[in-house]
Amino acid sequence: MITGASIFIDEPCKRSDQDNIGVLLMHMLIDGKECTSLNDAWIDVINPATGAVLDHVPSGSATDVDTAVESAEVAFGPWSKKTTRDRGIILFHAAERIRQQHTDLARLLTLEQGKPLKESIDEVRGCANILEYYASIAGKPAGEAVHLGSAGDCMVMWEPLGVCGAIIPWNMPVIIMGWKVGPALLAGNTLVLKPASATPLTNLKIAGLMRDAGLPPGVLNVVTGPGDLVGAAIVKHPLVRKISFTGDCATGSMIREMAAHQLKEITLELGGSDPMIVMADADLDRAVEGAVRGRFYNAGQICTAVKRLYLDEKIAPVFIKKLQERTEALQIGNGLSPGTDIGPLVNREQADRMSDCMNHVRDGNEGTILTGGCMVSGGEYDDGFFYKPTLITDVNPRSRLVTTEIFGPVLPIMTVPDLDTAIAEANRTRFGLGASVWTNDLTTIKRVYRDVHAGIIWVNRHLTIPPEIPFGGMNESGIGRENGYHALENYSRSKTLFLGW
Ligand code: NAD
Repeated sequence: MITGASIFIDEPCKRSDQDNIGVLLMHMLIDGKECTSLNDAWIDVINPATGAVLDHVPSGSATDVDTAVESAEVAFGPWSKKTTRDRGIILFHAAERIRQQHTDLARLLTLEQGKPLKESIDEVRGCANILEYYASIAGKPAGEAVHLGSAGDCMVMWEPLGVCGAIIPWNMPVIIMGWKVGPALLAGNTLVLKPASATPLTNLKIAGLMRDAGLPPGVLNVVTGPGDLVGAAIVKHPLVRKISFTGDCATGSMIREMAAHQLKEITLELGGSDPMIVMADADLDRAVEGAVRGRFYNAGQICTAVKRLYLDEKIAPVFIKKLQERTEALQIGNGLSPGTDIGPLVNREQADRMSDCMNHVRDGNEGTILTGGCMVSGGEYDDGFFYKPTLITDVNPRSRLVTTEIFGPVLPIMTVPDLDTAIAEANRTRFGLGASVWTNDLTTIKRVYRDVHAGIIWVNRHLTIPPEIPFGGMNESGIGRENGYHALENYSRSKTLFLGW
């Protein structure tokens, strides 16, 4: 069992009906209406635990994006003129509906993404938390007054940007939808959102619930389809004033270039290679749990998962022994089965990437595979994309395990003689999303906070991202911040009124 999740619910599900939702042909949401694509093409959504087709969604086109953006543009006027309080009340109602239906939504998320049901429940409730948080800050004073003596007085106000585009990945589709929808809509913008093609279903359901909660037509539109077609059409559309993208670094830099032509505002939440540093004075059992949760939650497919473990050499042998025992005890299986700790990877492509990476580690002597290092096989496992949680020691610092982002349940373990070396190694990366230090020593904490380059430094935990705190990366991990007041500002622009005497 992976412990430490904010909510732990292990609901038993019957095997007979658990793996099928029936083929529903779920539709896009444009101008408050469910619709198919004009080109009548469809994308299969696959259950990664069984390999079976779960549903189909429209494979949208640039024309569908035009329709969605035009609808969002029309909706922008009245929506932006509402008070933030009125917009906040609708977000509250939406959160209420998500909470009421969280069990069904979580089940759908597990079916399309693979993660254990308890993680899906956390994620769906997390999305409701985000909407409630933004609703709760609707009364925050937005702006400032500046007195300039005999020259006059100035009033600086925040106003929304207009139509915004949101493009999201498949790993945490529901929470990431909340990160974008909450601040964008509260600030008075309208949105065209594109889900990942692997996981569009729960996003579409939630968008429908938000409409039913009172969101006017056109305020939130969801267009499904390929990234290079639908995503690119959103980024390039001249009426879209801002792009908020979460995904791979290479896609992010392509999007940045596309958006630069029209000088669009941009938020990029990209990859990470978070270091976890464990010092000799740490509570070792707690740190072992932190490493298990930090690396294997969501089968390791999290931007800010623990991707490199640095152990003080004095405690390394004991720590590695405990970690191996815990890792080998994790239950791998269908996310809907009770007791599952690790579900499948999201699709065949991810599984192939993991196998490819492990072949390189073996062929290039990049490290010693302590446990795992292969797919789980036999029986029902052969239908899905299950990968064994993997620990690797004796890692060559030049290995791809250290220099790139490994998006799966693989943890490279390095030992360090002292804190200076740990900090230097932690910073030897082009990423800078998160980092954690496990210690009870205040001086160590201050050193890591000051010297490690990352958007968030956790002490004695890893992964937790509440809606109140800004989240985002340094260096190649991204630009801008989501969550908190920072995100609201990222979806607004200031405008000054100068009253001369
Ligand atoms: P991806 O970049 O392949 O896809 C993300 C989204 O972009 C999808 O909706 C995709 O359809 C769309 N897309 C693809 N090509 C596009 C194009 N040319 N123009 C416009 N849109 C396009 O990423 P992924 O594989 O879905 O997600 C995994 C990556 O996301 C990892 O690198 C992970 O670290 C990162 N991630 C980052 C954060 C964060 O907050 N920093 C959070 C989650 C995931």
